[in-house]
Amino acid sequence: MLSLKLKPGSGRRIAHGHQWVFSNELQEIPVLPAGTIIELLNDRGKSSGLGFFNPSSLISIRMLYSSNLPDKIFFIDRLSKALKLRQTLYPNESIYRLCFGESDFLPGLIIDKYENWFSIQILSAGMELLTEIICEALLELFPDTKGIFAKNDSHLRGLEGLPIEEKILSGEIPENILTQEAGIKLSISLIGGQKTGYYLDQKDNRKLIRRLSSGRRVLDCFTNQGGFALNAAFGSAAYTLGVDSSADALNRAKSNAELNDFANIDFQKADVFDFLENEIKNQKKWDMIILDPPAFAKSKKSVPTAKKGYAKLNRLAISLLEHGGFLAASSCSQHIDEDIFYNLIIDEISKQRKTARLIFRGAQAADHPILIAMPETKYLKFFVFQII
Ligand code: SAH
Repeated sequence: MLSLKLKPGSGRRIAHGHQWVFSNELQEIPVLPAGTIIELLNDRGKSSGLGFFNPSSLISIRMLYSSNLPDKIFFIDRLSKALKLRQTLYPNESIYRLCFGESDFLPGLIIDKYENWFSIQILSAGMELLTEIICEALLELFPDTKGIFAKNDSHLRGLEGLPIEEKILSGEIPENILTQEAGIKLSISLIGGQKTGYYLDQKDNRKLIRRLSSGRRVLDCFTNQGGFALNAAFGSAAYTLGVDSSADALNRAKSNAELNDFANIDFQKADVFDFLENEIKNQKKWDMIILDPPAFAKSKKSVPTAKKGYAKLNRLAISLLEHGGFLAASSCSQHIDEDIFYNLIIDEISKQRKTARLIFRGAQAADHPILIAMPETKYLKFFVFQII
């Protein structure tokens, strides 16, 4: 096995449980195929275990915290541990994130479970080479599996030199999977839906929206398949409107509302910024506005522009809220810190000479655990303010 050495003084992050070694931390970057398994040594030659090496990525090594090669037993072991946490968190749920990459000590491997189907996303060259073994491990751990789909459409794959491709890895994938999330019926398409099929990361926050909705007029901006809007309707909202720019997502949202026989819920295709500006022009008011846009900052470079986007979005929403109304503001940009996001919202509230109470501070759902040694695993922010 080939071993690579850290430069003196470079091993501290790894010793604390961070899993990435950057290219400037290695003594040399040999020419090896992306995904080759290597042993990492500190500058004194002591082993830190095995890792995936990628000479063309800024993240040169992703550590496996194992001195054994990642075979089927290795994956069964790590996935069993991941499963145990999800079963504890969501004993009655049949859709959840089974594996959240680095946070489950499987760097670059996302696995979402939808009933007896799996949607997987591979984000590291090392994992890509092991796709077959991963499927074997999944099939052994879940003998009732009906299909495994590779939803490899993330832009992060480009950084590892991996192609964008979606394909069936095992069994069959139906057009739609009928399921439920916390009592709400959903029809989910692994192939046609965004992300791995559904935005599982807002699972816990949706429950709060349900509790706040009774008797209110709720506007769900960036509704996708209706995640928050359906919960507002379930929570007896007086009226709910979901807005999104994707016709496809809205069709799914409408079918989901029909599946649940929800009344007083509509969906509208529009650009959210234009929609909100129009509502202001027409002097409309809402009792609760949910903002869950796509990541505005996909890299560090785009943070300043993204901050302006979030500020504008929140500014528009704040001016549409009734006195006592709720603003539920989310950001899934990993590069924007929680404090920065919080401060930009409260600035917008003050600018309109309003004040507010923070009534809830949330994050990504618990099946997307945050590994404290790796701030990169923390990305979703969710604040609910009552504007007063
Ligand atoms: N709230 C959803 C997830 C939202 S994902 C849930 O709980 O499941 C972000 C959504 O924003 C996507 O559905 C995408 O189609 C939509 N979108 C992106 N840019 C938009 C824009 N400018 N106006 C309206 N919708 C937009």
